[in-house]
Amino acid sequence: MRAAVLRGGRMVADTLPDPVPAAGQALVKSLACGICGTDLHAMHDGPHMMAQFRRAGVGRPLDFARDIVLGHEFCCEILDYGPDTPQPFRRGTHVTAFPTGIGLSNTLSGGFGELMLLDVTRLEPVTNGLPPHLAALTEPMAVGVHAVAKARLTQRDLPLVIGCGPVGLAVIAALKLQGAAGIVAADFSPARRALAARMGADVVVDPRMDTPYRHWHEIADADRDALVFECTGAAGVLQQILDGVPVNARIVMAGACPVTDRFEPLVGTLKEVNIQFAVAYTAAEFSRTLHDLCEGRLDVSAMVTARVGTAGVARAMAELSDPERQVKIVVEPWR
Ligand SMILES: [Zn+2]
Repeated sequence: MRAAVLRGGRMVADTLPDPVPAAGQALVKSLACGICGTDLHAMHDGPHMMAQFRRAGVGRPLDFARDIVLGHEFCCEILDYGPDTPQPFRRGTHVTAFPTGIGLSNTLSGGFGELMLLDVTRLEPVTNGLPPHLAALTEPMAVGVHAVAKARLTQRDLPLVIGCGPVGLAVIAALKLQGAAGIVAADFSPARRALAARMGADVVVDPRMDTPYRHWHEIADADRDALVFECTGAAGVLQQILDGVPVNARIVMAGACPVTDRFEPLVGTLKEVNIQFAVAYTAAEFSRTLHDLCEGRLDVSAMVTARVGTAGVARAMAELSDPERQVKIVVEPWR
């Protein structure tokens, strides 16, 4: 099969042996697979990232000296099943799946390759003819759903979303689905601010022109609670948030910051700030997100800014660092 392969810290297009389904597995064709910040991080600083995973007691061993086919945000078509395997869906059915270990593994290929193996018990059918490049966004959108669930949102909350990349946009969409009102979103990029408004932000702020906290204090009143979603994953932002928020604010750390950060805890102490970290999603949140996409309650069509074949992945990953040009690039290995 053709695949974009992470090899020696670089993405190369190559031909690999076709995977063969074992008992309990479905052989699927990758129709579309989003490129995620985790993929960029795996390419630039993989061993360090895995050391942090180990430190947190999660993830399986991963050898960056061997090939890795990345891609955990996929929509696939069922081609075949392994021996003695239940066949819950017809061949040709479009599915996605909770991506346990897939796309960050030396053995289980991800969606940047033409073929993959999925656990049949995890298959979730894509319904209502939702196009594969949009169904592939189930995974990143579920990240937003989970972050909002971790926030224990109430009607009193006045949410501020810092950073409008894929994580921030997913949080905004999830807040909107939950009926949040008065969502403020901040990003340096005009293109991302426009997308934030399209995904449901009520006010967008350019941090160069205006502090999002001042704006937010203007609408906030004594009856509303301050709820901030950190969605940049950048070092230094937590301190800015602590400096900006009022007392009793809640902060959800939805962006994953992979480097050492520094902040003054006393500022948070004096404001009695509550900091909640969040990552990924539960199986139920994943299913619910797919359902919301298929039923049209969640429209992510504006987030997909490019679609590339395996040969285009290296360039796509380089381009993702420019927020004006790209938000979510989807790999279509069959191209
Ligand atoms: Zn992802």
